[in-house]
Amino acid sequence: MNEKIKKTILYFLDNSGKHASYGDIIKYLNDEMGNLDDKEINEALAGLTKENKIISHISVNKEKRYEAEVRRHYHFICNNCGAVKDIFMEQGAVNMLSDHAQKIAKSFARVDKINMSFQGICHQCRDK
Ligand SMILES: [Zn+2]
Ligand SMILES: [Zn+2]
Repeated sequence: MNEKIKKTILYFLDNSGKHASYGDIIKYLNDEMGNLDDKEINEALAGLTKENKIISHISVNKEKRYEAEVRRHYHFICNNCGAVKDIFMEQGAVNMLSDHAQKIAKSFARVDKINMSFQGICHQCRDK
């Protein structure tokens, strides 16, 4: 059962549900597989996270978003509709930022990771 839930979640995230919220995932699972309990869904999400098949690095309006794109990337988040788009930055640019932050933070910390997102208004919202 658990494997089937995992497969269904992955399929959803790979196709229509990129950057889906927990609510989106539950809705899709219910449509596809009938009602499941939260425990099973949480176990499947935890399993997929542990296997490195999904990540949940961002929140939109305090709601965690899940995705199956596990390569290193950053996000654009629309401040109006909450749409999320992937941004793959050149590694050189990321290293430059990271080195710069490390220089500033040197006396008190070691920087291991950058967590950043880009915000604005998406073209769909701007054209309305
Ligand atoms: Zn928008
Ligand atoms: Zn993403």
